[in-house]
Amino acid sequence: MSGNAMRLQAIRDVEAYVPPAVSFTDAETPGQIFGENVFSSVVMQKRLPKLVYKSVMATIEHGAMLDPLVADAVASAMKDWAMEKGASHYAHVFYPLTGLTAEKHDSFLEPVGDGTALAEFAGKTLVQGEPDASSFPNGGLRNTFEARGYTGWDVTSPAYVLENPNGNTLCIPTVFVSMTGEALDHKTPLLRSQQAMGEHAERILRLFGHVKPAKVVSFCGPEQEYFLVDRHFFLARPDLLNSGRTLFGAKPPKGQEFDDHYFGAIPERVLGFMMDTERELFKLGIPAKTRHNEVAPGQFEIAPMFERGNIAADHQQLLMTTFKTVAKKHGMACLFHEKPFQGVNGSGKHVNFSLGNNQLGSLLVPGDNPHDNAQFLVFCAAVIRAVHKYAGLLRVSVASATNDHRLGANEAPPAIISIFLGDQLADVFEQLAKGPATSSKDKGTMIIGVDTLPQLPTDPGDRNRTSPFAFTGNRFEFRAPGSMQTVSGPMVTINTIMAESLDYIATDLEAAVAAGTDFDTAVQSLLTQIITDHGAVVFNGDGYSDAWPIEAEKRGLANLRTTLDALPELITESAMDLFDKYKVFNHREMHSRYEIGLEQYALTISVEARLTLEMATTQILPAAVRHQTEVAVNVGALKAAGVDADTAPLLAVSGPIAELRDALATLKAALAEETGHEALAEAEHARDALLPAMAAVRTAADALEEIVADDLWPLPTYQEMLFIL
Ligand code: ADP
Ligand code: MG
Repeated sequence: MSGNAMRLQAIRDVEAYVPPAVSFTDAETPGQIFGENVFSSVVMQKRLPKLVYKSVMATIEHGAMLDPLVADAVASAMKDWAMEKGASHYAHVFYPLTGLTAEKHDSFLEPVGDGTALAEFAGKTLVQGEPDASSFPNGGLRNTFEARGYTGWDVTSPAYVLENPNGNTLCIPTVFVSMTGEALDHKTPLLRSQQAMGEHAERILRLFGHVKPAKVVSFCGPEQEYFLVDRHFFLARPDLLNSGRTLFGAKPPKGQEFDDHYFGAIPERVLGFMMDTERELFKLGIPAKTRHNEVAPGQFEIAPMFERGNIAADHQQLLMTTFKTVAKKHGMACLFHEKPFQGVNGSGKHVNFSLGNNQLGSLLVPGDNPHDNAQFLVFCAAVIRAVHKYAGLLRVSVASATNDHRLGANEAPPAIISIFLGDQLADVFEQLAKGPATSSKDKGTMIIGVDTLPQLPTDPGDRNRTSPFAFTGNRFEFRAPGSMQTVSGPMVTINTIMAESLDYIATDLEAAVAAGTDFDTAVQSLLTQIITDHGAVVFNGDGYSDAWPIEAEKRGLANLRTTLDALPELITESAMDLFDKYKVFNHREMHSRYEIGLEQYALTISVEARLTLEMATTQILPAAVRHQTEVAVNVGALKAAGVDADTAPLLAVSGPIAELRDALATLKAALAEETGHEALAEAEHARDALLPAMAAVRTAADALEEIVADDLWPLPTYQEMLFIL
């Protein structure tokens, strides 16, 4: 199908679109289907013997070790429940370091020897699985002769039934570790870091008089940006199919300049898709909440309600899978890439972070009684200290070849990690730097001492879209993560650096109290010390301005522009000691993450480079040559007829064709270069040789797109992909 035939087909589809009947009817309200396919605590309470239920809940709520005797009873109840819901198979779902979700399905049926089979699901099968780990990245953690990996049930994240037209599957969220117990996945460190952070947060709560604080966990609310593209176009773009982004494409005449898309009316087909996804998400107990258009044409956002960190992470992965499946049903493709379209706003995933427990809620709520404020300021100071001290680790937690296209590009926060506090809170900390904070900017009441710190409004109102780490009323919003990545990486880092800060604070305050210092005085002087030492990370100005990198440098804040600048942060002595101390990663695990980071970077770019070569050679160049031939034939015919022929169009197409041929030769040579297969060398080669060579090919190809006849152009254009929905 040629370019414009595809376009017509897509337009016909949009015109003929009838939203599927997926909206909630009276018989089926969102409330009724919410969590329908989840083996939740309510279901467990109904189906498990009382003692078994209590034992499982102790594990979920208080972190008690799972009693192995209990596992058999749970497994059996889970199997019965799942089979009633039509499940024939079960799967341990895990999150390997590819960043994707992996699952291995097994049937419940086990032959009994007389030609028949019984449905079996033993406790040990629920608790542990043994998938072959050899095809997952491990960064040197696994010897080639020992391919085994183990999955282990994460009791705190509920099992669920995933529906499919061809049969349902019971899915069990699991960790994935090597034979030696080292993490091969994203969930293991998330659970470890959560535990470390909770422990030290609870020490601080005890100092504040909460005698037996409930288990503190991290909360995460991930805002997800994505693009939708008509499926005809998607399938006609090998680059979108294989690399998730367009490697070619001239800028459309109309882009996002008018700001007319953001929060605009949602197109009918898109709304149909959104409602359908939300219905699926509800069934899985995923609390989809907010939906709206985003900045770029064809770009949208969904924000589920925040949940406990590890559950939010699992749900987030499930959400991405669901979006892809449902988009297909509606004749579209869902793109999670950070930068599917060059020159058009890219996509991020904002990770809203807070910590708290079920007694006290978020510990980052300023609250309205002054005593709470002192506690709040301590937790807030812990964040400031952590972000300043370990900015490099936050930066590397969002580093990838794909996110490199977006960070620091004036549409996403810069690569410099800083904190936005908002006017009022910034003012409080400015006062604290000099001694006791005595007033609150808006309220203006004069109050003295920590006990009577100024009251803060729950929502300070203003937002700063240019800050990578912004306080937004009851949480911090980490705005730098890429749209495609799992939230686990950033959450592991935030939890761990918070564990260290909270540990530091608790230790200091415990010692002061033991030495007989008045608690308020101790808190006061600690806050002053923290803001004095770490206040440099607070920046309330415009992160996009040219002045900021200069100012940041003066403040000693790092500006790690690209992935390869950031990755070494993983293997600094201080990073390795930090993760080791809080038992999140040992040194080998840190090295393996570093290696995998390099490998994934090189791999992503080399795939793109090969695609660039292939598409330019087999699609773009031939189209340009055909056009050139037509023009040449036309010039010849005109001349033969004695008409004065204009040769300018011929020259116009011949120039970029020659450039394209040269650029392709360079790219081909770069791809053929021998790098020695060492991870760092390959990654550097990708950055220094492949990326510039691809860029040159693209420049020539995009110039041709603006010259070659529309009916000859083989690829859907930006205009088509972004505006026909
Ligand atoms: P905005 O676009 O204004 O940032 P959204 O409603 O799009 O707001 O998203 C805000 C996200 O922050 C939601 O996922 C929400 O559940 C989450 N959130 C709200 N409160 C907290 C909290 N205390 N801890 C973590 N996340 C939170
Ligand atoms: Mg938002």
